[in-house]
Amino acid sequence: MALYYDEPIEIVGGKGSRVTDADGRSYLDFFAGIVTNTLGYDLAEVREAVERQLRTGVVHTSTLYLMRGQVELAEKIARLSGIDDAKVFFTNSGTEANETALLLATYARKSNQILAMRQSYHGRSFGAISVTGNRTWKNNALSPLSVYFLHGGDRHLPQFRGLSDEDYITVCVEDLRHTLATVTAGDVAAVIAEPIQGVGGYTCPPDGLYAAYQEVLAEQGILFIADEVQTGWGRTGQSFWGIQNHGVTPDMMTFAKGLGNGFAIGGLVARRELMDSLHATGLSTFGGNPISTAAANATLDYILDHDLQANAAKVGGQIIDGLREAAARMPYVTEVRGKGLMFAIELTEPELAARMLEETKARGLLIGKGGLYGNTLRMAPPLTLTEDEGREGLGILVDALEAIA
Ligand code: PLP
Repeated sequence: MALYYDEPIEIVGGKGSRVTDADGRSYLDFFAGIVTNTLGYDLAEVREAVERQLRTGVVHTSTLYLMRGQVELAEKIARLSGIDDAKVFFTNSGTEANETALLLATYARKSNQILAMRQSYHGRSFGAISVTGNRTWKNNALSPLSVYFLHGGDRHLPQFRGLSDEDYITVCVEDLRHTLATVTAGDVAAVIAEPIQGVGGYTCPPDGLYAAYQEVLAEQGILFIADEVQTGWGRTGQSFWGIQNHGVTPDMMTFAKGLGNGFAIGGLVARRELMDSLHATGLSTFGGNPISTAAANATLDYILDHDLQANAAKVGGQIIDGLREAAARMPYVTEVRGKGLMFAIELTEPELAARMLEETKARGLLIGKGGLYGNTLRMAPPLTLTEDEGREGLGILVDALEAIA
């Protein structure tokens, strides 16, 4: 089990942006479970939608039968995707969604060659782990794919710090062209990329990087898979999908985590001809089951009705500004980065990140950790976070940063 704390926290209750542990201590949850509780805990609209479905007596039917809630959800996601004539396939997790996308891409292009990003994380299955660019998680022993890793998610690394955004994009596009011309056999199926890398430490490529990539990819008919498992649903504040921050409409997008507000659901939205090319997208026994789709429909409606993308931009922007101001006097903070309610504090040492987890826990705040070297704190609070809660969390983060000085 991956536990962040010296003593594990057992969460037994939750309401709004707060959870309670078995000892009765309350915490403000700045990691939304694990980027899952988009609307926080125990929101009436989601609870009631699930209860309504439970009362019908139908927990599960499978795709052998028409599921009204699944169709409604698919139509909403297809419309929101911006992909022309899109179709949606539901899974139980982000891993399965990415595995399906890779399956479709390799089948459609009759090639097992995939481009992926250094420092990426896409899941635990054979395909998804093969396109993961982080040693901690990798296991390529029997990979079915030939994968070539690109720069683009590593803007924060010391060797790139001095570059302007424009120069960094130029370096990355040269790297892409060089990779295609040298180590690939020239018939690459797809690129898969997280618009902001999640496990990698919320590293933000400059806006426009993926548009520059897509120009090169389009010349060779290479498909673009955007992994929106962490960046979808307005979390970045700037756009509804993270990839839209780059002005890119991908061929496929994968999603999971926050869609069901804690209920397990993931999926893939893709151009119809790709989706229809393979029977593998015909059936997932539990994918898009009536309980999860009830939760997901309620979650998605709430996000749109309450314009939570705008809330993410406002409250997230305030926290990021506050952190940057405080970090300016803290030499052990190498960078504060992020967009909307997806932001990170990178520290000089992994030990400092471990201490921050204990210091914030002691002050009643839950946060996440990540980055290539475990030296980055990741925050992704519920999109319903209020300005007051934002100020409270910011205050705790700054206090804790001072305490580890
Ligand atoms: N893709 C990204 C960007 C993720 O962050 C994760 C999980 O952290 C996954 C895929 C895998 O999703 P799951 O854990 O639901 O299989």
